[in-house]
Amino acid sequence: MEGFTTIIEPFRVKSIEPLHLTTRAEREALLAKAGYNLFSLHSDDVIIDLLTDSGTGAMSAEQWAAVQRGDESYAGSPSWFRFEAAVKELFPFAHLIPTHQGRAAEKILFSVVGGKGKVIPNNTHFDTTRANVEHSGAEAVDLVIAEGKDPALRHPFKGNMDVAALTRLLEARRADVPLVMVTITNNSGGGQPVSLENLRAVRAVCDRFAVPLFLDGCRFAENAWFIREREEAHRGRPVKDIVKDISALADGMTMSAKKDGLANIGGWLAMNDGVLAQQCRELLILTEGFPTYGGLAGRDLDAIAQGLREVVDESYLRYRVRAVEYLAERLLAAGVPMVEPAGGHAVYLDAKRLLRHIPPLQYPGQALAVELYREGGIRGCEIGTAMFGKRPDGSEQPAAMELVRLAMPRRVYTQSHVDFVVEAVLHVFERRESLRGFRIVEQPAALRHFTARFAPL
Ligand SMILES: *Cc1c(COP(=O)(O)O)cnc(C)c1O
Repeated sequence: MEGFTTIIEPFRVKSIEPLHLTTRAEREALLAKAGYNLFSLHSDDVIIDLLTDSGTGAMSAEQWAAVQRGDESYAGSPSWFRFEAAVKELFPFAHLIPTHQGRAAEKILFSVVGGKGKVIPNNTHFDTTRANVEHSGAEAVDLVIAEGKDPALRHPFKGNMDVAALTRLLEARRADVPLVMVTITNNSGGGQPVSLENLRAVRAVCDRFAVPLFLDGCRFAENAWFIREREEAHRGRPVKDIVKDISALADGMTMSAKKDGLANIGGWLAMNDGVLAQQCRELLILTEGFPTYGGLAGRDLDAIAQGLREVVDESYLRYRVRAVEYLAERLLAAGVPMVEPAGGHAVYLDAKRLLRHIPPLQYPGQALAVELYREGGIRGCEIGTAMFGKRPDGSEQPAAMELVRLAMPRRVYTQSHVDFVVEAVLHVFERRESLRGFRIVEQPAALRHFTARFAPL
């Protein structure tokens, strides 16, 4: 708002959900019962839940009204046509295929274009994207710029693709590359944006080698906001125009509506290639449903259609990105180490620098995440050696980074909630030297971070 420095939440609360304010003694007992694994907690026992921003957002009154309008006809429902119109308003690809979430779109796409001997370049594959590429037998290659790999280095577009590396890959293996992917924002790289200039350069390389370009568009609106704020040539442009420029550069996309769809479930796959669309629809019918609903109820399609109109609203995006930046700013001012600059949806605390006395194989990220819960009932997510340290042969090696992600659900928490998180992190930061590591006492063969049990050292 003109003349004001305070950026307010551009909405008011209509329906509230009480928080269960646990005591430290209760949290201590709950931690022990959960084997010090925050995934094993009941979410009712979490005060501020920053585990993920996926599907955890609050819907608007208009979205709930849209849910009521939802029509559950099996084929050709009006909900489908409203969904199609809302998606095509931003992403006018010829063919639109609804799915129950993003990974279902990935599974279908890579089942058709992937396979043994194929290679998919991306700035950084999100974990489900990589898993679906590899499940098909193909190879997933990450080609983010060098700046994107250095947590302490500030760069406005750390999600950019290394165009020279992409060119080299295509010179060597053009025949093996069915498509190039760019993830906006780059979730696995810290929620960092990709510039329009970089997307144009990637498009030029794709044209030179005649390879289709697909977007992983999960956080397209946050990415467009960063372009508007940080890219000189696009400063102050309407977000919707920037989104349309982005989509005009691509031949297709995968999407999780649980992020910038502002919905609790949903996704889609879209493309211009009619032959590819036909093959994808055949798989869709096997695993998701008829092509006018995918894996969704009509009411979900309507909630997403309305969410897409709200997510490109500039006062929403200003508040959204500022809320995350505000959290980062206050922690940085106190010297808390993190990935810089903050991403669009999360702050990533750097437990390696914060807890230098805890070696990687004693899981410093887990120690920090557990302590944040013990201190303030805050649930973040370890992204480090507990998540990635186990090799297929069962041995352990330190992960590249020891992070704790504090992901911000959309439109859920107020500034005082964020202030509370700041206070809790600072309390833990002040007594960081007293924190101890963990050992794993029980773990499954794969994806251990979801179910492993830990014991304090
Ligand atoms: C969440 C996400 C996905 C997968 O979407 P789901 O809806 O969780 O299946 C894919 N790519 C990125 C970048 C994501 O953030």
